[in-house]
Amino acid sequence: MNEFSYLFLFFLAASTTLKLWLNQRQINHILRHRDQVPSDFEGKIELSAHQKAADYTVAKTHIATLSTLLSGAILVILTLAGGINILLSLVQSYDISELWTGVTLMMSAFIISHFIELPIEIYQTFKIEQKFGFNRSTAGQFIKDQLLQLALMLIIGCPLIYGLLWVMGEMGYYWWLYAGIFTVIFTFFMTWLVPTVIAPLFNTFTPLEDQHLKSKIQHLFERCGFNSKGIYVMDGSRRSGHGNAYFTGIGNNKRIVFYDTLIESLNADEVEAVLAHELGHFKCKHVSRQMVVSSLMTLIAFAILGWLKQQNWFFEGLGVEQINDASALLLFLLITPIFSTFIHPMASYYQRKFEFEADAFASTMSKPEYLIQALVKLYRENASTLTPDPLYSSFHHSHPPAGVRIDHLKSLDKC
Ligand SMILES: [Zn+2]
Repeated sequence: MNEFSYLFLFFLAASTTLKLWLNQRQINHILRHRDQVPSDFEGKIELSAHQKAADYTVAKTHIATLSTLLSGAILVILTLAGGINILLSLVQSYDISELWTGVTLMMSAFIISHFIELPIEIYQTFKIEQKFGFNRSTAGQFIKDQLLQLALMLIIGCPLIYGLLWVMGEMGYYWWLYAGIFTVIFTFFMTWLVPTVIAPLFNTFTPLEDQHLKSKIQHLFERCGFNSKGIYVMDGSRRSGHGNAYFTGIGNNKRIVFYDTLIESLNADEVEAVLAHELGHFKCKHVSRQMVVSSLMTLIAFAILGWLKQQNWFFEGLGVEQINDASALLLFLLITPIFSTFIHPMASYYQRKFEFEADAFASTMSKPEYLIQALVKLYRENASTLTPDPLYSSFHHSHPPAGVRIDHLKSLDKC
């Protein structure tokens, strides 16, 4: 233990307390507003649906609290309690090359943490989602998904970590710059690869067949000057009753994906409005700006790691006995979320700003009332709360609360 140990414990305690306090505020706020549908939504959302959303959100928030406590405990066990030392000596007893020892150490730390957190995921899927009628996954499907995730984690994680550790060991003083560039390129490559190679391992994607909707969407693309490889429907209902739509991929691999559950519940005008909002994120350059920011953050993170790697107090303070590249990288990845908790509100602020801009764009391409109708339906069918605690929401939510967003859309309708 040194001064850095105390600083680490202080930040861990502060970020955990902050998250638990916000969760409790969220629960209290939702329960206080449980008996009354907010006036903006009267007649559009029934009391029973509003109460279901309240109970569902409260149940999920309790799970989030448990998960925060568990990941805090895992972090302390791996660091100060000597978990990494035990793992490393175990891996070293197999006498493999230094690079592979590092890769094995890191992968085993991630996989062990994942398995410790697995019961929470099982409870979330088969208790909470089940209770509120959203779960469509079976035990067999769940196990298949887990094995597939594990396989992908190894296939993608091992070469990435191997590459990074090689750069750290071989590229001299400016290794962090090369490692940052390598990670950024790797991330772009994965983003490009996801829609056509990785996502289809988990779901079936079929080109949109509804001709009426398809021609509506083609017209929207022409109006927006957007080209994409295709519009796909995903069998989201295989696992869950939640509906959504998203953009994926970069460059020539861009795709628009609708969950089958969304297509079923929204009419063509509403789907068009949702899509116009998503196109707004492209047109207002949100997607490319986010990519630039995250690339810069990656470079900064590696620059910090480049400095930390040379400080003995960093390893000592986190309870790690052997100073090497793999433990530096592992420690850095483990503790970064603790320190970055405090920049969450800033990220959420920008994301909400982007949401308003995309809504404004959507209302020039489609009628705001269609987007409002679609939002109301999505909130009702996903049992999303209409009455989040404002502070919780500004900290965690990438989207403004439903009421605020709809008021903004209504004001656009008037201009
Ligand atoms: Zn959006």
